[in-house]
Amino acid sequence: MQALKTFPVEPLVIELGGGQSLRAAPGTCVRGQMDLIELADGTPVRFPLVVVNGVRPGPRFYLGAAVHGDEVNGIAILSQVIASIDPQQLAGSIVCVPVQHPLAFYADHRFPVSQFMKSPLDQAPIDAWTVFPGDLHGNLSQIVAAKLFALIRQCSCAIDIHTPTRGGRYVPIAILPSMSLGPAAERALWLAEQCATGFIVKGERGMYVSRGICCVEATAAGVPAFTFEIGEGGRLESEVTEEGVRCIRNALIGLGMVTGERRLPAVSHLMHDFLGLRATRGGLLRTEVALGAVVQAGQRLATITNIFGDTVETITAPQAGVFVRSTTLSNLSGGERAATLGIK
Ligand SMILES: [Zn+2]
Repeated sequence: MQALKTFPVEPLVIELGGGQSLRAAPGTCVRGQMDLIELADGTPVRFPLVVVNGVRPGPRFYLGAAVHGDEVNGIAILSQVIASIDPQQLAGSIVCVPVQHPLAFYADHRFPVSQFMKSPLDQAPIDAWTVFPGDLHGNLSQIVAAKLFALIRQCSCAIDIHTPTRGGRYVPIAILPSMSLGPAAERALWLAEQCATGFIVKGERGMYVSRGICCVEATAAGVPAFTFEIGEGGRLESEVTEEGVRCIRNALIGLGMVTGERRLPAVSHLMHDFLGLRATRGGLLRTEVALGAVVQAGQRLATITNIFGDTVETITAPQAGVFVRSTTLSNLSGGERAATLGIK
């Protein structure tokens, strides 16, 4: 399957705002900054941007990370992917925004907390990831989404890299938009298969397939895209970064943009839903199952002990599944998520 839009070899020009533009000649990699907003003291906030323009016709691939500001793994994954590419050998081009929400990144938090605490009502919804295609005349989240979406719309396909927020850890998992979006969604599935993350969720309900989510709106606009979750919020781990680089490079190879052999995982799980398991008691969480393991109905996943050491709750799998997301914070209150299964 290669029904993605192909671009001829030509200079790639991106408008940065303020009359400035970024121009990447064929066979070059250039960095730039695109205007986002101005702070109260006049300080400009800008998106970092990397454009790699190849020397043969091919797709234009959008790669973004850290629309949630503490999700640093994706930033490292993209910097290593970009460093691994020789523009003189590339087919097509890459438009990369390694930090999709600079203000959230400054806060090292999922959200730009200073803006939200100052004016919570005006800044709601605060999660830019959920308000695509955005609005240039809206609040901060909507402006972020609108500026990113303007870049995404110019591309053939897109991957939006995430980790859970702090306290959660995902296997490398491609989470697709709803297949009801038609041919573009089927191409998003194809792209996820090219990545060979080892874990794919092709679901029809829940947050990840809701309208407003970045990859959902991109796919709805004809740009096949998915959400790629990997690792843990707030933490940079070399083995996680390497795994992410493997997956994105697999996609580049699958798209015919670079040459090489795709590196495949030992097993691959296709799932259709998530099942979040929440604590009813408070205490200390001890997870007993390895992340990525296949679990059976009734299998014990974790225990919660109170502060005196008494076991107050046992978290078990209500049905068979794959343990795709763990809770890494040990301090858990009733109602908080203890584990998430992917359901086949
Ligand atoms: Zn995220």
